[in-house]
Amino acid sequence: MPPRNISLKEADPLIFDAIEGEISREQDKIVLIASENYVSRAVLQAQGSVLTNKYAEGYPGHRYYGGCEFVDIVESLAIHRAKSLFEYKDSTGETVGVEHVNVQVHSGSQANMAAYLSVLKPGDRILGMNLSHGGHLTHGSKVNFSGLLFENAYYGVDPHTGHIDYDKVREIALEFRPKMLVAGASAYSRTLDFQRFHAIAREVGAYLLVDIAHIAGLIAAGIHPSPVAYADFVTSSTHKTLRGPRGGMVMCKSEYAKAVDKMVFPGIQGGPLMHVIAAKAVAFKEALSEDFRQYQLNTVRNAKTLCDAMIARGYKIISGGTDNHLMLVDLRNKSITGKEAEDALYRADITVNKNTIPYDDKPPTITSGIRLGTPAVTTRGFAESEMAEVADIIDNCLTKPSDERNMSIQRQRVRALCERFPIL
Ligand SMILES: *Cc1c(COP(=O)(O)O)cnc(C)c1O
Repeated sequence: MPPRNISLKEADPLIFDAIEGEISREQDKIVLIASENYVSRAVLQAQGSVLTNKYAEGYPGHRYYGGCEFVDIVESLAIHRAKSLFEYKDSTGETVGVEHVNVQVHSGSQANMAAYLSVLKPGDRILGMNLSHGGHLTHGSKVNFSGLLFENAYYGVDPHTGHIDYDKVREIALEFRPKMLVAGASAYSRTLDFQRFHAIAREVGAYLLVDIAHIAGLIAAGIHPSPVAYADFVTSSTHKTLRGPRGGMVMCKSEYAKAVDKMVFPGIQGGPLMHVIAAKAVAFKEALSEDFRQYQLNTVRNAKTLCDAMIARGYKIISGGTDNHLMLVDLRNKSITGKEAEDALYRADITVNKNTIPYDDKPPTITSGIRLGTPAVTTRGFAESEMAEVADIIDNCLTKPSDERNMSIQRQRVRALCERFPIL
C-alpha cells in the first residue's frame, strides 16, 4: 500500500495525468455546451477538502453521527445563503421568501425524484415538457425513473412560433388531469411564464414543480422572473448557470418541508456529500455578489450577440431568438446534421452538443440541431467581439468541414481566443 501522505502525482500518475489532460482540454477549447461552466478556485478548494471524510446522515442539529459540529456550520450556511439568493421583491415591493431549502440532493435529477416522491405515489400522473421540445429526461421520459414510476403526458412548443403554447398546455392538463405539472427545460430559449403555469396547475388541482436547473443563475441575478411565489417545489442543479459544484437543491413551501427532507434522507439518499455542500455554500456566496449579477447580464448579452450573428449568416434559431443563455440552432436549411456539426466543431476545438429540435425527423443520435450556450465562455471573459468571432468560426466550420485548410485556420483562431482568456 502506498504511503498515505504523498501527492496524487506520486500516488497515482495515471489519474494525475488524466486530470492534467482535462485542465488543458478545458483551457484550450471553446465550450458552448449550455449546461457547463467553470467553478472558481474557492469552490474547487472546498470540494477537494477533508469534509469528504465525514458521515452526517440527518440534518444540522439532528444527526445520526457524532462529530458534526463543523459540517453543521457548513450546511446551515449553505441553506441560509440559498434562501438569501432566491429571495426577491415582487412587483408590489413585497418580499417573497424561500420557505424551505434542502441542499443535500446529489444532483438535479435527485432533486426532482425527491420532490416528486414527497407528494406522489407510483402510478400518479405527471405532465411535463416533451424531451424533444426541450424538456428533461426527469420530466417523464420512458427511459428515466420519472417515466418508469409515473404515468406521463407531455406538452411542447408551437410548430410555427417555437414558443410554449400555454393554451395547449391547459388543454392537455384539463384532459390528462395530472397530479404534478412540471415547468422547466434544458433547451428552451424563451422566458417561462410561471404565473401561467401556476394558474393551469391550480385549475386542474395539480402541484406545480418548476425545475430551474438551467436558468438558476439568471433567476438569482434577477434577470429571469422567479417561480418562488408560484411553485410548490422549485428544483435545481447547482453547476449550470449557477456556477457551483456538480449537485442539486430543492426549494419548497414550508408545508412540504418535512416530506421533502424525509424523502431525500432516508428516502432516496444516504449520507450527504458534505464537501459538495461546502462548495455549494461557497458558490452561493459568490452568487450573492454584484459581480455575479454582472456575469449573468453578460451571459445573456453574449447569447443575444451570438444568436444575431448566426441569424445574419443564414442560420435559423428555434423561436427566432433567445431571452436567456442558450439557443437551439435548426440546421435543416444547411446541408449538415446535428451530429456532423458537433463533429466538425470538435475538430476546430469548439465543444457543443447535437440536439433534437421540435418536430425533428432525425433520431436523437443524429438530430437536426445543435444547442449553443454562453455561460462557460462568459465566465472566461468573452464579450461581444469574441462572440461575433465565434459565430464566424462556427459558420466556416459548418460550411466547409472537409476543407482541411479551412479547418486548420478555424482551429488556430480558437487557439488564439483561448490563450487570451485563461479559465482560472
Ligand atoms: C440538467 C438538468 C437536470 C438534471 O441535472 P443533473 O444534475 O444532471 O441530474 C434536471 N432538469 C433540467 C431541466 C436540467 O436541464
